[in-house]
Amino acid sequence: MTRLSRRDFLKTGAVSSVALLNGCQPLFGKAASKAHVVVVGGGFGGATAAKYIRYFDPNIRVTLIEPKAKYITCPASNWLFAGLATLDQLSVDYQGLKNYGIEVISDTVIQINSKQRSVTLSSQQSISYDRLVLSPGIDFRWDTLHGFNQELSQRFPHAWQAGPQTELLNQQLQAMPDNGTLLICAPPDPYRCPPGPYERASMMAFWLKQHKPRTKIIILDPKRSFSKQALFEAGWKQHYGYGSPNSLIEWVSLADNPLVSLDAERKTLTTEFGDHFRGDVLNIIPPQTAGKIAIDSGLGNSSGWCPIQPMSAESSLLPFIHVIGDAGHYSPIPKSAFAANSEAKVCALAIVNLLNQQAISTPNWLNTCYSLITPEHGISITNGYQVNAENGITAIKSAGGVSQKTDPASLALEAVYTQSAYYNLRSDCFD
Ligand SMILES: Cc1cc2nc3c(=O)[nH]c(=O)nc-3n(C[C@H](O)[C@H](O)[C@H](O)COP(=O)(O)OP(=O)(O)OC[C@H]3O[C@@H](n4cnc5c(N)ncnc54)[C@H](O)[C@@H]3O)c2cc1C
Repeated sequence: MTRLSRRDFLKTGAVSSVALLNGCQPLFGKAASKAHVVVVGGGFGGATAAKYIRYFDPNIRVTLIEPKAKYITCPASNWLFAGLATLDQLSVDYQGLKNYGIEVISDTVIQINSKQRSVTLSSQQSISYDRLVLSPGIDFRWDTLHGFNQELSQRFPHAWQAGPQTELLNQQLQAMPDNGTLLICAPPDPYRCPPGPYERASMMAFWLKQHKPRTKIIILDPKRSFSKQALFEAGWKQHYGYGSPNSLIEWVSLADNPLVSLDAERKTLTTEFGDHFRGDVLNIIPPQTAGKIAIDSGLGNSSGWCPIQPMSAESSLLPFIHVIGDAGHYSPIPKSAFAANSEAKVCALAIVNLLNQQAISTPNWLNTCYSLITPEHGISITNGYQVNAENGITAIKSAGGVSQKTDPASLALEAVYTQSAYYNLRSDCFD
């Protein structure tokens, strides 16, 4: 597939939510002058929504509630395994958002009272809202692998929420025996960051190739295929001997023979038909659901994610509550920080329109997922999305594409884009 440049994409007239902001001055500001929007969760989705609501209409009072004083980004956290970043470099605080006049409260929402339109914090403080934006990210399902539980994730880290788990996994990687095996258990769809497990394997292989070249990474996958597979496999072949007996990376689809149990003492995983995989290090990434507060508040359905009305991001289940980011059911848009930023802008504009009693404009969304195979070899996939006739979301035909597979110059350029895309996105959300 030929890659469409982002400039070409914008030229198609499929106006992305990013493009909506170009040259944007405060759009509104009378009817909503007393309105109060509460945003729960200061990750990529929540931070963007808080900032852009104030940007679109500075008369709206915005309160962001987030327990962490510093947020560590999952994007770029795989770079840690290749020695390309530290967690400190991936940390952001909320000063940038405060500069927009957003009140930031360092606390956790423990209850949403949708009838009274208020939230209760762990401090027992109650805060009322006209509109609530919920962007709590993900939670994990601990009940799908016999012998594994939340406590054991301290020994077999998922590192799927950047922070101490990422450090722990990195320490385990570095302490691996020279001829050891590292198992990455990829999660089933849908999950946060579809290319993430494969970028992780690449970044780990980059480090192991230099320091412990006799080791092996085995990705145990419940899926038959994975995001950007052809690009990853071409890169692994080029750099890590993929497909040869000495390959640093092996990918095993367990779609017909899923993992069923863990023997924690023997560090061994067993499949339904009795195959065993033993590792020196186990990176078990569990199946995922919307963040706990969303599920506890009755915003999730049987899929474990929160259904929304695409035009406004408002929950299909409870009024005046908008769900964005990983927690929302935006399929086929993947769960990524880039998508959370796009969903947040659509949501921010819809809320400003609603509070000003104006019509909501029909949105488009944009997603790009970059991954590094080595520091000089980047790959990406881009797609635009639109509302369809059934009030669902569909990918816009021809408004996307993937990177070139082999041209070294273009792959090197993609690696530069990977890094600049990270800093640009982070800045758009938090600065
Ligand atoms: C290894 C890895 C690599 C990734 N790489 C990329 C990448 O390169 N590009 C990309 O686009 N995406 C990437 N992602 C995906 C990206 O991290 C997520 O899609 C993104 O963080 C989603 O944003 P969010 O706002 O929905 O959730 P989060 O970023 O998880 O933010 C949720 C916030 O809500 C807060 N919260 C939760 N519950 C409450 C509560 N009750 N009260 C108050 N606050 C609460 C949490 O503390 C958290 O700060 C990656 C993910 C992983 C795991």
